[in-house]
Amino acid sequence: MKKTKKIKVEDIGKANGKLTHTDPKDFMPLPPPYDNPENLPPWDPLKNSDSVEASLDDTIAVAIPKPKSKQEEEELVKKFLSGLEKLFTKENNWPFLQLLTLTMEHCAKCQTCSDACHIFEASGRNEVYRPSYRSEVLRRIYNKYLKPGGKFFGRWKHGPIDLNWTTVSRLAELSYRCNICRRCAQTCPIGVDNALITHELRKLFSQELGIAARELHEKGSMLQLRVGSSTGMNPLVVKDNMEFIDEDMTEKTGMKIETPWDKVGADVLLIHNAGEIMAWPENPGAFAVILEAAGVSWTLSSDIPAYDGINYGLWYDDFQLARVAIKHAQAAKKLGVKKIVVGECGHSTKSLMVIADRVLTGDLNIPRESAMTFLEDIVFSGKLKLDPSRNDFPVTLHDPCNMVRLMGIVQPQRRILKYICPKFREMTPCGVNNYCCGGGSGFAIMSGYNFQTWRNHISGRRKLQQVLNAFSDDLSPETHKYLCAPCSNCKGQLRDLLFAYDAWEKCGILYGGLVELIVNAMSDVNPGFIEWEWH
Ligand code: SF4
Ligand code: SF4
Repeated sequence: MKKTKKIKVEDIGKANGKLTHTDPKDFMPLPPPYDNPENLPPWDPLKNSDSVEASLDDTIAVAIPKPKSKQEEEELVKKFLSGLEKLFTKENNWPFLQLLTLTMEHCAKCQTCSDACHIFEASGRNEVYRPSYRSEVLRRIYNKYLKPGGKFFGRWKHGPIDLNWTTVSRLAELSYRCNICRRCAQTCPIGVDNALITHELRKLFSQELGIAARELHEKGSMLQLRVGSSTGMNPLVVKDNMEFIDEDMTEKTGMKIETPWDKVGADVLLIHNAGEIMAWPENPGAFAVILEAAGVSWTLSSDIPAYDGINYGLWYDDFQLARVAIKHAQAAKKLGVKKIVVGECGHSTKSLMVIADRVLTGDLNIPRESAMTFLEDIVFSGKLKLDPSRNDFPVTLHDPCNMVRLMGIVQPQRRILKYICPKFREMTPCGVNNYCCGGGSGFAIMSGYNFQTWRNHISGRRKLQQVLNAFSDDLSPETHKYLCAPCSNCKGQLRDLLFAYDAWEKCGILYGGLVELIVNAMSDVNPGFIEWEWH
């Protein structure tokens, strides 16, 4: 029996070392070749840290500085409580108030959500990672400290909880043990949204206590707003990089490729996740090849930050989300384009198409489209000459949560793959029932302390299992297999995951985007666009 089974909700406020431990012996088993412990990456539990809080589990994601005095602790707890109060006011939280209140007021404790959560499952059902655990902690705090009479009746009616610095700091770390994939929310029979609790907690910590993952805030949205991109590329550097990509594409495909910049009156403003330009240049390159071949009138923008679709605010701070989204729309308005198309990036797509709906009003409400539907129209328009036999290798599809479960863009990418990849096969489950890659909500770019170990072993475990199962008919390294992930963030996580498990060498599994497969099938470009080597 696992020790973690005994952890109760109220234990979160008890300062007695770590709240839980994570032990590889408990983790969900993996299929061959990873049923052999020798093929697993090392597990690297964190011991203790003198300067940052590390009392939740054996991992650190946020690195919260330890308060220097009791007084500082008390002030932070007060800030937490006043921030919590704000979350329940219309003027401070109008977009999410209704769903948040519903989630706080109701839970049937049926645990359907737990069975849906890949993190809970992969960890060996660690109580602290249960989707409802952090919600129940918050629910008790809400009932005790915000509800009239809560101090007297809260414990009796809703269960005990102590609000102190231990509770607050553990809750902050715990808000970074959830991918915000909303698989749990999809299954809850009464519409409770445990992922929203994660989001609201991160928002509270960022806005009221200045606590956020450095990769999302300082090195993420702050850098993006200042320089133009969280990759650090300014407009000159990004243009330079794209010029290099154009030259490479021209040489590789035999087609003259020249990416248009700042073209006033173009039909389409394409916004890539700039991480593609740095890490996977063949992806923006393939987009350029397709748009050139299809005769689309398009452009990129060199305005800050309109050449980078990243919007990390989605995961931790509504203000940051709004700041970035407004600048994206302003760039499109300046160019007078008919629409914005968001490249292969799930969170960018959801940020700009759905969440930004609440701030992009009036003349900033420019039509916005996902690359999936846009590409489907091109592929089935007959403007590209496609030869599916060029993609004669096993292909499976990862469904990015933001685009698929949360936006309902399920079929366009499948119709393309079924058309151009004769050996396409689905993962199980797939579509809106998919599992997160394990890098959702910003995890894919978070590797401080030992967090990458946690996502390799726990948050990414279910996805690895799914990929191996999808290719189980031939896992030999000699057979090259393609894991299609039409999302930059997911690709970052899959790269780290497959690398940690050495899945290219051991099983012949490579990952990449959708446009690369399309160009690989184009019969009027030089064959062999996809290069079968690890990158
Ligand atoms: S599925 Fe819904 S009602 Fe059931 S425990 Fe989870 S959040 Fe509560
Ligand atoms: S949102 Fe996803 S990762 Fe978070 S608790 Fe729900 S199922 Fe688990």
